[in-house]
Amino acid sequence: MRIGCGYDVHRMKAGRACVLCGVRIPGDTGPDGHSDADAPVHALADAILGAAALGDIGTHFPDCDARWKDADSIVLLETVWRKASALGYALGNADITIILERPRVAPYIARMRERIAGALNVGVDRVSVKATTEEGLGLTGGGLAVAASAVVLLEEAAR
Ligand code: MG
Repeated sequence: MRIGCGYDVHRMKAGRACVLCGVRIPGDTGPDGHSDADAPVHALADAILGAAALGDIGTHFPDCDARWKDADSIVLLETVWRKASALGYALGNADITIILERPRVAPYIARMRERIAGALNVGVDRVSVKATTEEGLGLTGGGLAVAASAVVLLEEAAR
């Protein structure tokens, strides 16, 4: 088995769509970035790349490349997963933590797990999505940013 971890932060900006784990959450602010800025999906993609020792999301999808402008990060995740799968890895499990003050994401967690599991072609029982706040402290607490961390276990299924 191989373990990987990933971490990402995006600034929250007024007027941006808020897409987290591939789920659109209604509101007037959302993460800003070159792609759709889906921080938890970026953290997960980095965790997968880390477990497979395939570099990081920035080398695979550089933000100077117009192809990834406003990209759907679920598509980036699917691309990353294809690279890991091609090396013979299967997903043991993935655990994602989203850190933000608002909007409240609890009502969307089930749908988020389905979106991630669909992208990785596994059952939802292998995908955990959790959310927490930083109690009003710091950048996420002040609503200025969304942060996310992810851990994955890959199994060397066919290596
Ligand atoms: Mg990012």
